[in-house]
Amino acid sequence: MNVVADRPRRLESYIAGAWMRGSKDGVTLCDAATGAPVALVDSSGIDFAAALAYGREKGGPALRRMSFHERAMMLKALAQALMERKEEFYALSTATGATRADSWIDIEGGIGTLFSYASKGRRELPNSHVLLDGDVEALSRDGTFSAQHILTPLQGIAVHINAFNFPCWGMLEKLAPTLLAGMPAIVKPASQTAYLAELVVRRIVDTGLLPEGALQLVCGSPGDLLDRVGDQDVVTFTGSATTGRKLKTHPAIVGNSVRFTMEADSLNAAVLGLDAAPGAEEFGLFVREVAREMTSKAGQKCTAIRRVIAPRAHCDALITALGERLAKVPLGDPADENVRMGPLASRDQREEVRARILDLTTDAEIVAGDPARPQLVSGDAEAGAFLNPVLLYCDSPDAARSVHDVEAFGPVSTVMPYDTAEEAVDLVRRGRGSLVTSVFTNDPDIARELVIGTAPFHGRVMIGNRLSAKSSTGHGSPLPGLVHGGPGRAGGGEELGGMRGVRHYMQRTAVQ
Ligand code: NAP
Repeated sequence: MNVVADRPRRLESYIAGAWMRGSKDGVTLCDAATGAPVALVDSSGIDFAAALAYGREKGGPALRRMSFHERAMMLKALAQALMERKEEFYALSTATGATRADSWIDIEGGIGTLFSYASKGRRELPNSHVLLDGDVEALSRDGTFSAQHILTPLQGIAVHINAFNFPCWGMLEKLAPTLLAGMPAIVKPASQTAYLAELVVRRIVDTGLLPEGALQLVCGSPGDLLDRVGDQDVVTFTGSATTGRKLKTHPAIVGNSVRFTMEADSLNAAVLGLDAAPGAEEFGLFVREVAREMTSKAGQKCTAIRRVIAPRAHCDALITALGERLAKVPLGDPADENVRMGPLASRDQREEVRARILDLTTDAEIVAGDPARPQLVSGDAEAGAFLNPVLLYCDSPDAARSVHDVEAFGPVSTVMPYDTAEEAVDLVRRGRGSLVTSVFTNDPDIARELVIGTAPFHGRVMIGNRLSAKSSTGHGSPLPGLVHGGPGRAGGGEELGGMRGVRHYMQRTAVQ
């Protein structure tokens, strides 16, 4: 596919078994690095009532006729088929600003999640249509009256609304547990990068592996879709807290008690332990991890480290080490093999990040990187949405608000000092609920205090040290078997987490 064709391609939605264009031209989506038009997106004219009915009446029954193992095998076959087409996805992914390494997270990470659920489904679920949950509850002395909890798939449709940063992974990590549970889905990718989600759905449909109606796609605005969701439907949302709160209180969602999951923004922290002085292995590992989280996907990851909490005595050394490392990260055209960090998803997004950096400077000073003048190794600084990593330092994080409140969704982090472990815990908690925090220490007592103090505020806490360094998947990687989500500001949702993710699309019923 030529992504920089003279005339940008009009994206299509896949509704009720057919591909269709919006009735208007729609919004132009541009290549993140060159600014060239890539596609046009528009959803006007879609009959959302018909889409919902098609999924509920055609896709749902077909999926529910299959056993858990049959659905797991379907996911495996789908993952294999997509893996064979991965180079096509990589080629288009460059337009989103992703380097090859960034695209690997999105594309192979997403397909890997399908594989993982396929294998978990066969190992952890029965080859039947009903899942027994827990033991039989005795309700009478003579055993003539007892109860068993069962799980059965909801009979509605799952509507998945995704963020722009992971058009492939974001879609597949939600689809895998949905389909394994036996529910059909309508996917609505973020418009900015919908062209990659559209291509992946096109290839999924081409395989013919999913039953009719199991998957539909909306490119563009969801119109009146949410006005029409009902009591057996599920809505999941990934994106900004502002949009998430709006959708969570949508009258149809509230009025019909629609199961709603929200994964919103998050001011994830990383804590350098009091034992990890410069020269200690954990200090080096911490520098590497913070730099990696700031630059991978140009910092546009929901799990990226935004707050770097370090012992006061080591802050200067940390800022120097991080500054030197970040200065060496080649920024430029994501198609260039020498480039380690590509542009943000769009120039608008860059303006947004610059504005948030300005907000952060009410409490912090910039100690590395210049947000105004990008330094590139390739590409066009004006045409593309380039931004070098920006490191800030906040000397009084206890009194500051913005550093615990403002999410600059790009290569931006703030270093802040602490003196005691209790202070470190208190600073982490000021994020008011995050997806993940990591703690770098080789001292089990420090690890215990930080983990217990911060766990209630997180979906995941990672301990980094010399022992796990080689095998660790790192701070920023959500894994299919582990919780992805967090309380409070992170949205209060929970995705993945193995079978917990599948149960979200099923009803638990006590049968007496
Ligand atoms: P966004 O602007 O909130 O959009 C998210 C999704 O909601 C998009 O698909 C968007 O569609 C859709 N949307 C917007 N208004 C809507 C409405 N009124 N009704 C229905 N859908 C609506 O967020 P974003 O800019 O794409 O993503 C960036 C944010 O996502 C960051 O804050 C980041 O932290 C967060 N994020 C969180 C996670 C997580 O797992 N916690 C993961 C990734 C990103 P359009 O694009 O068509 O407007």
